[in-house]
Amino acid sequence: MSEAVPARAPSLAAKSPYELRVDLGKGVPETDVRSALATGDMGFLHSFTTGSTVDGPGVRLVAWTSGCMWRCVYCHNPDTWTMTNGIPVSIARATEELGKYRRGLKVMSGGFTLSGGEALMQHRFAVKLLSAARGMGIHTALDTNGYYGEKLSDDELQVADLVILDIKGWDPERHRRTTGMEIGPTLEFARRLAAHRRPVWLRFVLVPGWSDNADDIERIADFAAGLGNVERVDVLPFHQMGRFKWKELGLDYKLQDVEPPSPEAVERTCAAFRAVGLKAY
Ligand code: SF4
Repeated sequence: MSEAVPARAPSLAAKSPYELRVDLGKGVPETDVRSALATGDMGFLHSFTTGSTVDGPGVRLVAWTSGCMWRCVYCHNPDTWTMTNGIPVSIARATEELGKYRRGLKVMSGGFTLSGGEALMQHRFAVKLLSAARGMGIHTALDTNGYYGEKLSDDELQVADLVILDIKGWDPERHRRTTGMEIGPTLEFARRLAAHRRPVWLRFVLVPGWSDNADDIERIADFAAGLGNVERVDVLPFHQMGRFKWKELGLDYKLQDVEPPSPEAVERTCAAFRAVGLKAY
């Protein structure tokens, strides 16, 4: 691997994933990017953040990967779409960073969450980093849209104590319109996690006019309830905190004038999940 890391490497720590980060891995040669993806010895990370209480049980250290092949209209971190916007980080450096928080995470009954971007775009790196965390006795969670779930072997499904699975719709056409991608692989991964009895938290972003079709929500709820391994559902109200990133990156933001859903709409959505016996918040 060549020495392409910038002389003054940017800090891995960020106050929040809403920090706009671009081109931090731009100098990495294409061959090194390919090698990193194949071996997982190096990954591209937007940042590490601490103190999250919404990305798994307890207080979480979260590593945000860069690279995502989806194009969700409501994405609040579009700077993570491009892998080389992230910082190139060796698995050794990322593991060392994890080690700093080991004791604190245990005291706070927390853990480590790998999120993105789409963490499984770098599935070799993801497996290595989650395994390293588990090796330190840290609870691990993988936040994913599931599209590349098939890249993980059955044994590798065990490296995440919890999978936080983002389901973004049900109707295939509406799903494609919202994310640019097919829903099938996500549902397939959900079924596979259920077959292997891996604990899952489901995430659903409620966006007025885009993901709030009542029929779709009912179908997602039925599907989730039928899996038998969904421990909770988090209904996340759409917000505009990422709007500035679309502007800065010169992207066409279709949700410019969309308001967050009302508390009643969020409650109605939670109720649809509760009606089939799931815990929803
Ligand atoms: S899957 Fe996540 S990171 Fe990728 S576009 Fe959608 S919201 Fe953004």
